[in-house]
Amino acid sequence: MRIKNLILPSVALGTAALMTLPAQEAEGYTLLGFALSQTQRDFRIYNNFTDSQANNNQVPDDNFPGYQGAVMAIWKGSIEWQSALHNDGNGDPHQNGGLGSGGANFDPSFQGEHTSTGGINDNVHSGLSGGSGGVLAFTESPSSNGWRIRYYESWTWHDGPGTNISGICLQGVACHEAGHAYGLGHTTTGGATMYPSISGSGVSARSIATDDSNGIKAAYGAANGNKPTIDGVSVSGSTITVTGTNFDSSGNQIWLTQAGIGGSGVPIKITNLTSNGTSVSGTLPATAGPGDVLVRRNGGSHDDLSEAHPTDLEGGGGGGSCPAPTNVCVTSPNSVGGGMVMSYVGEPSYSGQDFTLEAYGGPSNQLGIFYYGPDLIQAPFGNGVRCIGAGFLGTYRLPVVQLDLFGDASYTLDWDSPPIGGSGNGQWIDGDTWYVQFWYRDPADGGATFNFSDALEIEICP
Ligand SMILES: [Zn+2]
Repeated sequence: MRIKNLILPSVALGTAALMTLPAQEAEGYTLLGFALSQTQRDFRIYNNFTDSQANNNQVPDDNFPGYQGAVMAIWKGSIEWQSALHNDGNGDPHQNGGLGSGGANFDPSFQGEHTSTGGINDNVHSGLSGGSGGVLAFTESPSSNGWRIRYYESWTWHDGPGTNISGICLQGVACHEAGHAYGLGHTTTGGATMYPSISGSGVSARSIATDDSNGIKAAYGAANGNKPTIDGVSVSGSTITVTGTNFDSSGNQIWLTQAGIGGSGVPIKITNLTSNGTSVSGTLPATAGPGDVLVRRNGGSHDDLSEAHPTDLEGGGGGGSCPAPTNVCVTSPNSVGGGMVMSYVGEPSYSGQDFTLEAYGGPSNQLGIFYYGPDLIQAPFGNGVRCIGAGFLGTYRLPVVQLDLFGDASYTLDWDSPPIGGSGNGQWIDGDTWYVQFWYRDPADGGATFNFSDALEIEICP
């Protein structure tokens, strides 16, 4: 049986320091000695996982709207700790009682994808190239100011959701590391998620045990009958209505997940809302997207925040005017991993004119271009697949960019000059749909020495 540690010495030291705290029961959980305030409940994922199995699962799930692959797996591992079931708790075939088993006055807020690993207090999960012996993953500087979680890419990460996994279960390890981020040390109870090592793939760590639940309750208090809860969420036009229990007569907030990729991590909030106690409504901001909804009643205590409940807002916000770009076509393996993946920051809005194309997972320091066209094709070319067709309008190349040390490329659109703006057939105008792909040099891969990312389908909004 191969035992893998889940923790780095830096965090182990933090746990050791607990020896000065009052003794726990002879067996069981330990605490790191802090609690996250309401302002640190956010978590984001930087999806830089290059192993193709880490983003294998592309089946949408109503309980995790808008995201698949590694992002969905880490989302599931994180909300397992929340106070009550995440909607009906469905989404993981391993769960007996359903996802959302913490039972404490503690509830995290999913804030979508980030564009980088972030700082050590930015509450972001991401892959880390290389390895460190038997260490799978680690949580950096867990404290009341936040945390950062890294997963060593020397392991083969698998996003599930099935339980027959070849490699390491990303959701299970995410659940363990999230426990550290939320204030728990390791337990002496075998079979608990916070046990310091796993055998096999780690699927069993997806479901927190009674001992884990006792730990989160010790840190934040057991959820009481006075805590706000959510029964359902509905959207009509630009109005969102949340029904549940224990909302305040005034001063309620609705917390939403940010649309698109990036943002600050702070939940999108609708504030100063009145309620009859069981229903609260507000006007959706354009910055909100699919994800989770939480209700915070008029107070800053742990038990003033409800559990998270999924809601499938149109990407780009409740106004629905600016659809979120979607990944299409396929990527191809390159010299450094499973291939480059397209991403973006901002909205492809003709009036807003603030939009950045990104691609990650490429060879450090090489050159490439973003290019685009009106048609989607799939044709082998170079070491990869060309996804952009010319149609009647042609294809258009944007300026050459150099990938950074991490193999990431980005280009912020110039809406004032050709080909995006100015004159000509390549202009991006409200109502257009364009397909964009990254074309890059990769000498270390041999063959044709060039390759392609997947593609992004972008609908230009007003
Ligand atoms: Zn650990």
